Amino acid sequence: MTQTTIPRRTLEGVKDADVTVYPFATGDGLGLELTRFGRAECDDVVLLVHGLTSASDVFIMPEHQNLATHLLDAGFTDVWALDFRMSGRFPYDTETHRYTLDDIALYDFPAALEVIRREIGDRRLHVIAHCLGSVSFTMALFAGTVTGITSLTCNSVSLTPRVPWFSKLKLSLGPTFLEYVAGLPYIDPRFGEAPAFTRGWMLSRMVSLFHRECDVRACHMQSFQWGAGKPAMYEHENLLPVTHERVADICCASGLHYYRHVRRMVDAGRSVKYAPNDPKYAALPKDYLAGAADVTTPLLLLAPEKNRVFADSNIHFHKILERAAPGRHELAVLPGYGHLDPLIGKNSHLDVFPLVVDFLKRHSA
Ligand SMILES: [Zn+2]
Repeated sequence: MTQTTIPRRTLEGVKDADVTVYPFATGDGLGLELTRFGRAECDDVVLLVHGLTSASDVFIMPEHQNLATHLLDAGFTDVWALDFRMSGRFPYDTETHRYTLDDIALYDFPAALEVIRREIGDRRLHVIAHCLGSVSFTMALFAGTVTGITSLTCNSVSLTPRVPWFSKLKLSLGPTFLEYVAGLPYIDPRFGEAPAFTRGWMLSRMVSLFHRECDVRACHMQSFQWGAGKPAMYEHENLLPVTHERVADICCASGLHYYRHVRRMVDAGRSVKYAPNDPKYAALPKDYLAGAADVTTPLLLLAPEKNRVFADSNIHFHKILERAAPGRHELAVLPGYGHLDPLIGKNSHLDVFPLVVDFLKRHSA
């Protein structure tokens, strides 16, 4: 299967399931979407939450045994995938905006949960989240804007984002430099395909000067967008060649403002509100960790060993949770994996997904 034979946004990666799409609106006026993959009614429903610049597509890729299919095959026959405001399927993050992760915790997840609850009633609901989807969903859970979650699995990072020193530098200088000096309101992994000598083209060529590890310009741009490494997002050898070639289909363009919120959290050592004195966010805590002992939903923290985007964030968070609620939450270190390849890797269904299924089964029935 090559890049040209895989259409973007395809649902072909999930076989033998009824697909239903549920559009819904957030309290601040955005139209979002849930996609349900159903084989049969199930007492344990699973919701999948993507990260920044990706989309629900990250869970349903046709070129490998994707997470949605793996769950359906494992007996979790009612799987939902959310596209929230960070989704590459929507224009929201690349148009002019000043959204933060607080907006997502306050508006996106409660609205999505309302739709799901309307359809599934009080059946158990497990959530599996990645990257900044994981940070913001954990924020919502710890803030209490979402309730009734049976279990939460977080890949790479959750409430204590920690990043390599080079990423700190990029988070500090990048958004201002790109917006005000380079005149680029967003970063696009497809800048390599831009017309010659445009700003995006020049940025891509400059980035590629420092990335000789492969010949996929979108991969170089991904490493510029996120983390510190060559490549930063994954281990090359964990990906199928076609996934590597079409990485810009899976990780799309992203705006710059969410980076500023991440920088504040990195400085604080934990998830904090971006604008603590703004009355619009009065329902959210200034410090999302403050009530950690009261959160009864068990967490599975997936910590990729070679995480060059969010480093040891989940290992660190697990230590904090152990002090707050000993034995309630679990940590699984993923040897040989980077930030994103636990989800999109060619062997994720052998190395990673079974750990998640085991965790879900122990918190089912
Ligand atoms: Zn590459």
